[in-house]
Amino acid sequence: MKKHICLLEGDGIGPEIIAQGAAVISRAAGRYGHELSFEKALLGGAAIDATGEPLPAQTVEKCRQADAVFLGAVGGPKWDDVSPDKRPEKGLLGIRKALGLYANLRPALLMPELAGACLLKQGTAEAGIDLIVVRELTGDIYFGEPRGISGEIGNRTGFNTMAYREEEIRRIARTAFDLARLRRRKVCSVDKSNVLETSRLWREVVIDEHRGYGDVELSHLYVDNAAMQLVRAPSHFDVLLTGNLFGDILSDEAAVITGSLGMLPSASLGASRPGLFEPIHGSAPDIAGQDKANPLATILSGAMLLRLGLGLPEPAELVEKSVRAVLAEGFRTADIMEPGMTLLGCVAMGQKVIDYVDKL
Ligand code: NAD
Repeated sequence: MKKHICLLEGDGIGPEIIAQGAAVISRAAGRYGHELSFEKALLGGAAIDATGEPLPAQTVEKCRQADAVFLGAVGGPKWDDVSPDKRPEKGLLGIRKALGLYANLRPALLMPELAGACLLKQGTAEAGIDLIVVRELTGDIYFGEPRGISGEIGNRTGFNTMAYREEEIRRIARTAFDLARLRRRKVCSVDKSNVLETSRLWREVVIDEHRGYGDVELSHLYVDNAAMQLVRAPSHFDVLLTGNLFGDILSDEAAVITGSLGMLPSASLGASRPGLFEPIHGSAPDIAGQDKANPLATILSGAMLLRLGLGLPEPAELVEKSVRAVLAEGFRTADIMEPGMTLLGCVAMGQKVIDYVDKL
């Protein structure tokens, strides 16, 4: 099978990590007889420098024509003073919108090899963390109308509207149930239905949509309890289904407890391809160009691209196994370095993963 990937390297460490990510997935796909072709397009600060715009029209076009989009990270101090509508982050929000991406998937996986980095008690870490937050991206209080600040200074009111349409809830619920079928078949839906009407509708529609997924176990938690359970017993969770606001907070919480920013991938999916795949960290301008970046979050985002973006589970699994093998052999980049381990730069780490992709 031949597939075409649009590479948005972005800024800072973006080009370094995307180079490794692209090399690894190309090799893994090749081992199963699939051919990947790549084309670069400009996004963020790099696009501002070249064209004056953080998201040139040509970039949107190239992304739309691709089977999947692989993104590094955008931003950096060089563009901190440009006008708000031209900032690098605008490019990121713009491309998500242009591709109609409504589902953000963020796995939090604590690999046993990195258990020492986990912020939780040793026993909790040993029970393992392997969950994924499925966050709705286009609705909720971030987009609801009316919104604003009204009244005279000294007596003002700020207001936003939390709103979800049934269809928005149905499609994200289906994303979560479909994903659960690729995992341990458990979905926990998070809401605040004891207080909010939006959440009452959310729960009702999720339960209704679940009727088509009898093989998937569904449970519900109020968001305050979900926040507690994530630190008390994260091993109980498989797929966490949330709206935009609760997901924003819970996905960061779930990510940080694993303790290693340079290891965490993400995917954003829409109704049809292409999806967008990127590490959750930023452009790390403090280490850009020094061959110090950890490429593993990007490489693991590449595994999500293979599995969810291209429908190629075998090479995806090969990439994930190879990353684990490299860590088990004691190879580390500086951000996850521990005593007694072997320190590698970004390029050497990418190459080590490729070595395992070739031999596993
Ligand atoms: P950051 O994630 O870029 O960096 C935070 C810290 O983690 C830094 O010390 C950095 O060196 C380190 N780090 C991050 N990724 C690493 C990796 N792969 N390997 C090793 N170390 C890594 O966050 P920040 O410093 O707050 O932001 C820097 C820039 O990135 C800003 O312009 C910000 O707006 C942007 N940003 C972009 C995205 C994105 O593109 N999705 C996300 C977050 C921040």
